[in-house]
Amino acid sequence: MSSSVALRLPSIDGLLRHPAYAPLAERYGRDSLLTGLRQLLDELRPGALSGQLSAVEIGAEVLAGRVGERLAQQQRSNVRRVFNLTGTVLHTNLGRALLPDEAIVAVQMAARYPLNLEFDLASGKRGDRDDLIEGLIRELTGAEAVTVVNNNAAAVLLTLNSLGARKEGIISRGELIEIGGAFRIPDIMARAGVRLHEVGTTNRTHARDYEAAISPRSGLIMRVHASNYSIEGFTARVPTAELAELAHRHGLPLLEDLGSGSLLDLTRWGLPAEPTVRQALRDGADIVTFSGDKLLGGPQAGLIVGRKELIAKIKKNPLKRALRVDKLTLAALEAVLGLYRDPDRLAERLPSLRLLTRPQADIFAQASRLQPLMAEVLGSLWQVSAVEALGMIGSGSQPVARLPSAALCMRPQVSKRLRGRCLLNLEAALRALPIPVLGRIGDDALWLDLRQLDDEPAWLAQLPQLQVDP
Ligand SMILES: *Cc1c(COP(=O)(O)O)cnc(C)c1O
Repeated sequence: MSSSVALRLPSIDGLLRHPAYAPLAERYGRDSLLTGLRQLLDELRPGALSGQLSAVEIGAEVLAGRVGERLAQQQRSNVRRVFNLTGTVLHTNLGRALLPDEAIVAVQMAARYPLNLEFDLASGKRGDRDDLIEGLIRELTGAEAVTVVNNNAAAVLLTLNSLGARKEGIISRGELIEIGGAFRIPDIMARAGVRLHEVGTTNRTHARDYEAAISPRSGLIMRVHASNYSIEGFTARVPTAELAELAHRHGLPLLEDLGSGSLLDLTRWGLPAEPTVRQALRDGADIVTFSGDKLLGGPQAGLIVGRKELIAKIKKNPLKRALRVDKLTLAALEAVLGLYRDPDRLAERLPSLRLLTRPQADIFAQASRLQPLMAEVLGSLWQVSAVEALGMIGSGSQPVARLPSAALCMRPQVSKRLRGRCLLNLEAALRALPIPVLGRIGDDALWLDLRQLDDEPAWLAQLPQLQVDP
């Protein structure tokens, strides 16, 4: 209720003597409490003076509650865990791959103690951080040499700049892609100082197109994995082996940006085929670049592998220093790569592969189990069903391939006019849970794809707190 009487706000000193404030000072510190209280009173002052607030609303206890909420909010980390039930497993906006325990242990060690990051323990001399993982990557890919940077975008930029600056980079028009987040091949090339020489057409590029473009100005031939789109129908693409042969005949390096870059043939787990790094190198690519946190299932990183003399050149580029990888990432990467030595157990140990290979029947059983609980929480306004659904790998891997999955599908039982609003309300309520739950809206329903719901107890525990505005 509002009174129309102008009120004076209580003084800060007076409030601080009230017993309700002692626990707040204890918990958050006196300075934070003072700052919070000043801000709150400044916000309330105009309302109090114009008589829009009641005496109860500016009472010491009510104000203590409000400032307490504010301080709790401030103290909460901005980096929050969420449930990714969007159906996209390697979701770029949700942090892509989840690390295995082995990598988490390695990160903790690297965070807590000094380590031999650039120090050769055998000789006692200065070392190179790439040496920590070079042996493992060579073993897993067949590459002669390796260097690692902050992410694959950096890997592409650094490689182009090191091998093709002030020269022309020849690339098919079908591969001039945009990955999202402002990563566009033509722009990266320009920033790397490489002049774009595009050849062929969007759907068909032939060996003769590349050949006709080669001149004394040429510096390299580049091939980019189409990642997030697919060209179907009347298409032609020169196989890597043939393109490598052509490049080498003219003394040019072939650079292949694989994007996801799988280390193993994923079809052995029933997943769609994705080109492997080893195969690209075997086909004759001189440098292959790929991400650490896509199909590899590790931390954010960009791996550059290939011919020894080219890697040496890349490592000498001053940009390498600007783009280098940090110690926590290296520790995680080594641990993840180590798991690839035992492919038979990889799907149990690497979370991204475990989630990608989770059988649909298993996910459907989980959806059926959770359906009545969700229906009870949402009440009669919603129809909740356990249904088959199609998810995707994400992060540009296999944009057209779908992962057979299962979901909780929530449909509001209201007139068509109100459905959109209802769905947005439910979506917001799920986001407002202590561990926000992210699904997707489509076909007049909200879908929670359960492929990635492996912490079912935590999800269930917060379900009673779901409060949806009607
Ligand atoms: C994802 C992707 C990139 C960018 O890799 P980041 O690790 O996200 O920097 C570059 N090229 C291709 C083909 C990709 O799929």
